[in-house]
Amino acid sequence: MGANEKVDCLIIGSGPAGYTAAIYAARANLKPVLYQGIQPGGQLTITTEVENYPGYPDGVQGPEMMEQFEKQSRRMGADIRYGLATKVDFSAHPLKVEIDEEKWIEANAVIICTGASAKWLGIPSEQKLNGYGVSACAVCDGFFFKGKEVAIVGAGDTAAEEALYLSKLCTKVHMIIRRDEMRASKIMQDRVMNTPNIIIYWNTETDEILGEKKVEGVSLKNNITGEKIEIPVSAFFVAIGHQPNSEIFKGWLSMDEAGYLKTLPGTSKTNVEGVFAAGDVQDKIYRQAVTAAGSGCMAALDAERFLGEKGL
Ligand code: NDP
Repeated sequence: MGANEKVDCLIIGSGPAGYTAAIYAARANLKPVLYQGIQPGGQLTITTEVENYPGYPDGVQGPEMMEQFEKQSRRMGADIRYGLATKVDFSAHPLKVEIDEEKWIEANAVIICTGASAKWLGIPSEQKLNGYGVSACAVCDGFFFKGKEVAIVGAGDTAAEEALYLSKLCTKVHMIIRRDEMRASKIMQDRVMNTPNIIIYWNTETDEILGEKKVEGVSLKNNITGEKIEIPVSAFFVAIGHQPNSEIFKGWLSMDEAGYLKTLPGTSKTNVEGVFAAGDVQDKIYRQAVTAAGSGCMAALDAERFLGEKGL
């Protein structure tokens, strides 16, 4: 396969990690080319207000913040392009990445910032009310439901952590669990069970989220007895896991069973020399805009060092 273009530093993905990598790489004169992927700006473009990113004392809308990230990386000289990485070939140097199933780019260093996508239940009301009380991020949106009753679905560590977070803000947290046990670690389970305003519904599935313009309640079904109940809530949080966007790297890069890319601890280095990973595609624990941005910075610095050492 012939390459159509050769670049020093190729960045895949346009969330906080990708743009921060682009800012640092451009300032280090690596002439980065960044492909934005299917959702330019990433997960933050589907949130509303961001109040926990330092430097914005009055908060900022997620989409606006990502426009500013993009603007800043363009101003530093990064070449930002619309396009999706569809395949890679990391068998030799230079590294090769296919864009939009049509052209191949050769790169001396590749920084992967493809992020993760929240999993959803897949029911119609969830889609209809997304952003109107339905959210996949309690830390982002919980605050807007201070003093209200909310529901959360899921039973892993994320759901447990988010339920505890919500319990400090909301009057009641209705936690919907599909089996008769939780997947979360024992300590998190204990904390959830010992929090008086978290009410657990075992063996329960979400039938529908109720409300026309905003979330007003949820209809639940006990999957053993078939009994249905409705509870009034102002928000519905989905915490059933994330899917890292790492499909195209299978077979090339080390990843865990869930598909999160593995990096050498304390660095952004993957198992392939010259390939670095930052942001949610390699982080299943913190998953914050600010931690993603920090790891994007690390990746650009690691790439700069790598290119310098190789004399590229
Ligand atoms: P998990 O995959 O661990 O848990 C997902 C949960 O969602 C499970 O309880 C699962 O139920 C439930 N679920 C999945 N699909 C549905 C569905 N369609 N309807 C209802 N429930 C559903 O994801 P997490 O995001 O919680 O955690 C991911 C990883 O990150 C884990 O390894 C976790 O330990 C780690 N983590 C660690 C943290 C920490 O250490 N502080 C914090 C957050 C995450 P079921 O059990 O029935 O399959």
